[in-house]
Amino acid sequence: MRRVSIFGATGSIGRQTVELLVAQGGPEAVRTVALTGGRNVAELARMALALRAEIAVTAHEDCRDALAAALAGSGIEVAAGPQAVAEAADRPADWVMSAIVGAAGLVPGFRALAHGTTLALANKESLVTAGPLIMAEARRHGARILPVDSEHSAVFQALAGEDTAAVERVIITASGGAFRDWPLDRLAAATVAEASTHPNWAMGQRITIDSASMFNKALELIETREFFGIDPERIEVLVHPESLVHALVGFTDGALMAHVGPPDMRHAIGYALNWPDRRPLPVARLDLAQVGQLTFRAPEPARYPALGLAREVMRAGGLSGAAFNAAKEIALDAFIAGRIGFTAMAGVVEEVLTQLSGQGGLQNAPDCLDTVLEMDRAARARTAGIIAAKG
Ligand code: NAD
Ligand code: MG
Repeated sequence: MRRVSIFGATGSIGRQTVELLVAQGGPEAVRTVALTGGRNVAELARMALALRAEIAVTAHEDCRDALAAALAGSGIEVAAGPQAVAEAADRPADWVMSAIVGAAGLVPGFRALAHGTTLALANKESLVTAGPLIMAEARRHGARILPVDSEHSAVFQALAGEDTAAVERVIITASGGAFRDWPLDRLAAATVAEASTHPNWAMGQRITIDSASMFNKALELIETREFFGIDPERIEVLVHPESLVHALVGFTDGALMAHVGPPDMRHAIGYALNWPDRRPLPVARLDLAQVGQLTFRAPEPARYPALGLAREVMRAGGLSGAAFNAAKEIALDAFIAGRIGFTAMAGVVEEVLTQLSGQGGLQNAPDCLDTVLEMDRAARARTAGIIAAKG
C-alpha cells in the first residue's frame, strides 16, 4: 500500500489533501505515515484518526499535551516542536505533500527527498529559497517533485510529452488580487482585512495578502524558473481576472497550450496525488458558454512592484531568493501586525536586498541547507531592523 505523509495538514492545502485522500478510500487505500500541523490540534487529531496515521506532529512544543490528550488510546504516536516536524520527514513515505507555509517548509520537504519519494510541492518557498539545492537533491536520490501550485501544475501538464527545447515562453496568470481595480493612491491605506479577501481563490491568509501585493506571483516567477529551468526573459505574467486560465506554454511553432479550469486547488492537488494517472476529481466542470469571456492584461509595474523585485532576484541568483523570501515574510508579518502599510512592504524588501548585496554574500550558491538557512536568518534580522528604524 502506498505510504503518504502530509506536512502542514491543517492548512488550506493540507485540508484539501486529506479530503481527497479520504474520498479516494482513506486508510483502506493508503497508509498514512505522518501528519503535521500547528496549533489546531483538535483538527490534526481528527485527521490522524480518520487516516489512522502512524504519527501526528504539532510544530509547537506547548501543544504537545493537548495533542496527546486528543489521541489518547488511539495508538497514534505524538510529537511536538520544529525538530519533530523535520524528523517526521525521515520516516520513509512514497508520496509526501509539502504544504507548510513559508520558509519553515524547506527542511521537511528537503529531508523527504532522501527516500527517493514523490514530493508534491505546494511550498513554493522551497524553490524560491533553495531551488538548485532541492532539484539536485531530488536528482541525487531519484526523487520526483510534482508542482502543486496551480500555475506550475498547469505548466507541467501543458509540457507533458513535449520537448522542453521547443518551449519559447511560459505565461503564468494572476488574478490581480484584492486591489487590482483600486486607484493607486488608495493602496497605501489598504487594511489587513481588505488585503485578506481574494476575488476568486479561497486560500490561507498569508498567500491571499501576497496575491494582493503580487509577492505571491513574484515567488511564482522564481518558482517557474527553478522548477522548469526556463530563462527569466521567457517567463511572463498576465493579469487574468477570471482565474480560469492558470498558465500557458508557448512553443517555437507558435502554438500556445493553455490549461483551463475552475479556481479550485483540489485539481492541482489531485493531479499530483494521482500522477501519472488521471482519476475523477470533485471539481466543477467549466461551462465556457456561461463564462463567455476570458480577459487578459499586462500587470502595471507601479501597482505590483514585487514583480520587478523578482526579476532582480532572478538576475542576481545565488542566495537572493532566500533573502527575498525572508524579507517578504517579515514585511508581511509587520503589515499584518499593523506596523507598516501595505505599499511599504515592497520598499522594505527592496532595501533589504540593496543592503545585503552591498555587503556581498548574496551571490554565493545555495550549496547546502545551512547556507540557505543562515541567509534566511540574516535577512530576517536585517528586515526587522529596517522596520524598527522606520518607527
Ligand atoms: P495555511 O496557512 O493555510 O497552512 C499552513 C500550514 O502550515 C498549517 O498546517 C500550519 O499549521 C503549518 N505551519 C505554519 N507555520 C509553520 C511552521 N513554522 N512550522 C511548521 N508548520 C507550520 O497555508 P496554505 O495556504 O495551505 O499554503 C501552504 C503552502 O502552499 C504555501 O507555501 C503556499 O504558498 C502554497 N500554496 C497555497 C495555495 C492555496 O490555495 N492555499 C495555492 C498555491 C500554493
Ligand atoms: Mg499559484
